[in-house]
Amino acid sequence: MQAKTKVVVAGGGTAGWLTAYSLVTRLGKLLDITLVESDQIGSVGVGEATIPTMRTFHRLVGIDEQEFMAATHATFKLGIQFNNWGQQDESYFHSFGEIGQRSWMAEFHEFWLEAKAQGFGGSLDDYCLELKAAKANKFATMAGNKPLNFAYHLNATAYAAYLRTKSEIAGVKRIEGRIEKIQNDQTGNIASITLDNGSTVSGDIFIDCTGFRGLLIDENLQVQYEDWSHWLAADSAIAVQTEAVEAPRPYTQAIAHSAGWQWRIPLQNRVGNGIVYSSQFLSDDEARSTLMGNIKGSTISEPRQLRFTTGRRKKAWHKNCIAIGLSSGFLEPLESTSIHLITTALVRLMKLFPFGGNTHLLSEQFNRETQLELETVRDFIILHYHLTQRNDSPFWQHYRTMAIPDSLAHRMAMFHENAYAWPDDVALFRVDSWVQVMMGQGLLPKQHHGGSRMLTPENLQQQMMALSKTINHSVTQLPAHADFIHTYCPALDR
Ligand code: FAD
Repeated sequence: MQAKTKVVVAGGGTAGWLTAYSLVTRLGKLLDITLVESDQIGSVGVGEATIPTMRTFHRLVGIDEQEFMAATHATFKLGIQFNNWGQQDESYFHSFGEIGQRSWMAEFHEFWLEAKAQGFGGSLDDYCLELKAAKANKFATMAGNKPLNFAYHLNATAYAAYLRTKSEIAGVKRIEGRIEKIQNDQTGNIASITLDNGSTVSGDIFIDCTGFRGLLIDENLQVQYEDWSHWLAADSAIAVQTEAVEAPRPYTQAIAHSAGWQWRIPLQNRVGNGIVYSSQFLSDDEARSTLMGNIKGSTISEPRQLRFTTGRRKKAWHKNCIAIGLSSGFLEPLESTSIHLITTALVRLMKLFPFGGNTHLLSEQFNRETQLELETVRDFIILHYHLTQRNDSPFWQHYRTMAIPDSLAHRMAMFHENAYAWPDDVALFRVDSWVQVMMGQGLLPKQHHGGSRMLTPENLQQQMMALSKTINHSVTQLPAHADFIHTYCPALDR
């Protein structure tokens, strides 16, 4: 029998334990997996809002939704409410739901634009079940026979602990210790790592999950980082937890301030809060007082300062080292995409796993796909900052007037001139995602597809009214979000 491939996972945050768990459940018979982490160093401990792709990933690796939600004090997330982004005192939703009905030629928002031109149609929000349910604080996994599209808010520390228990049961060996030295062989591959107690862990493949520092990929292999802070200037965050003072909302709130923005993420037993800002525009003291002046309920943790540089590792896979998680890049948490990027990196790694063959080709493919994915997320996040009418601070003036990637400029122009929107190249953000953010932040198309005029005005109005009525009816039938959680997945240790 062929010897097992020895995989060493360096780091035990969300990325480390997701890696260990996925590999052991899906390739465990072929791999010998060791995870090294240091309790002295700890993990970033934030990262509590997710997107719906996490559900697919959980299904792939056999994670039970109710068990996982109870263990991580999780709530449901139907989207993100953006406050003060396009203009101060304005609000819109990026919902995970489908808006209206799919149609292959002209998209639903174009039918809605036609309706508006004819003097009816209400708000685009009226045609999205998930959005209406979120606003009403209601939730169930199914509305009648229609499944809702949702994600989760979770406790990041509890999630890593949950994955650790499951991984160890499945056969992952955990070693506690601080990595102090890394030894490479003559080919430049990593041969082993040495811990602070002098012991050595050798392996065939090393996964760098050591966070922003990138101990293996950066400090040892010196793979460069592509800095995107000229587009995404945020370099700091402060996070603090508060007591829950209201029933958990089934959505994340992203509240823009005059410099930076603030998140509110409701869990079953507390709320995660934080402010993301750029030190170029806001001092740490100002950021802290803005955050503390905009929280509800008493704090239950000390405010924690975090620093980062937005961008990506030029090669996430180099030699026999693959960077997953913050070591491979970080954009910022505005669209809650980091855990998603960990899971897609893991699926990619499992598909391209180096069992032999031409490893160079496998790593090139991995790096190409990773780059495309990160550039897609980058454009979507830049859109939120750039597309604003806010003019009340140097921060918004900077973003509103800065040069943006050509790919994004093209997308915005197509929408503005023709109302045409399309899903991105990595099937992450749907047409509805782009449309909700572009229209939500004030980019209204000058004209739209003529296909919407194939219906008579009466027929269009009838169909739209019927859709909105069905949605309203479904929302009235849904239970309150808090009640659904209470019966479906109450926290184990509230
Ligand atoms: P870390 O959590 O930093 O873990 C690093 C691990 O490496 C730790 O276990 C540490 O002990 C170990 N380690 C480091 N050095 C050594 C050493 N020398 N020896 C041994 N072990 C070592 N993501 C989302 O999806 N949604 C969000 O809402 C979200 N919000 C965020 C908000 C902020 C402000 C930030 C900064 C990030 C956010 N993220 C979010 C990203 C998310 O937190 C990370 O993607 C996720 O936690 C993975 O981090 P990690 O495991 O790569 O790194």
